[in-house]
Amino acid sequence: DNPVARKPKWIRVKAPVGGVYQETKQIVRDEKLVTVCEEAGCPNIGECWSKRHATMMIMGDTCTRACSFCNVKTGLPDSLDAFEPARVAQAVEKLGLRHVVVTSVDRDDLDDGGAEHFARTIRAIRHRMPETTIEILTPDFLRKPGALEVVVEARPDVFNHNLETVPGLYPSVRPGARYFHSLRLLQRVKEIDPTIFTKSGIMVGLGETREQVLQVMDDMRSADVDFLTIGQYLQPTPKHHAIRDFVTPEEFAAYEKTAQAKGFLLVSATPLTRSSYHADEDFAKLRAA
Ligand code: SF4
Ligand code: SF4
Repeated sequence: DNPVARKPKWIRVKAPVGGVYQETKQIVRDEKLVTVCEEAGCPNIGECWSKRHATMMIMGDTCTRACSFCNVKTGLPDSLDAFEPARVAQAVEKLGLRHVVVTSVDRDDLDDGGAEHFARTIRAIRHRMPETTIEILTPDFLRKPGALEVVVEARPDVFNHNLETVPGLYPSVRPGARYFHSLRLLQRVKEIDPTIFTKSGIMVGLGETREQVLQVMDDMRSADVDFLTIGQYLQPTPKHHAIRDFVTPEEFAAYEKTAQAKGFLLVSATPLTRSSYHADEDFAKLRAA
């Protein structure tokens, strides 16, 4: 009997039911979109979709990477759908989103890693919904020179790229990625356009130590990262990376306090925090402040 196989009481979530949830689902289906909410089996889907907050995942449902924590399938993806940016924009309008989060699979198979498709999606949303703030959560564009610049030039409001875990766990958690490359990517965004907010996040419960988490926070701050998210890792299937421990709500609260003291503008650190969880509310609060 593995004690970590049983979820603690603070992980229990609301079942996905209700009218607005169904409407959100229908809009996603009608626009033939993929969402990370579904692909990742996100525990917050009941809550988020009941507020119409769906996070679009562009460039298909198949990823060229195989991160050991991630539920998205690995393989050779289909070619890009040129009409997808317009459909994402249409979904943003139908959902009435004031703030949208758009993410993607990793596309190592494309020359630009999908940068131009990201840029086109940002422009399509801007054109259709000029008041909506746009947050993107991108791949690392490793070995794709010039790709980052293309995305930054499309001027998202928030540029998010997750470090996912501490550097010592990269070989087992995020093979194919490089910690310092990802950190540098975040720093480059700020160097190119300081008006864009940068954001990053990690999962905890993968076997990292508290000292390692604090070091990641320092690394992010030295790369001028503005927003931080920390959430509990949950194992999607028994084949995925094991959960080493459940971080308690009190430990999360302590991380949040420390991160605020280190100068992050927005911090979300709770067991159910995900990159896109409450992104709308948090960003609205910041803009009002
Ligand atoms: Fe979707 Fe993010 Fe909400 Fe999860 S937290 S359901 S991924 S919007
Ligand atoms: Fe999942 Fe992203 Fe890793 Fe692909 S690159 S396997 S989508 S976490």
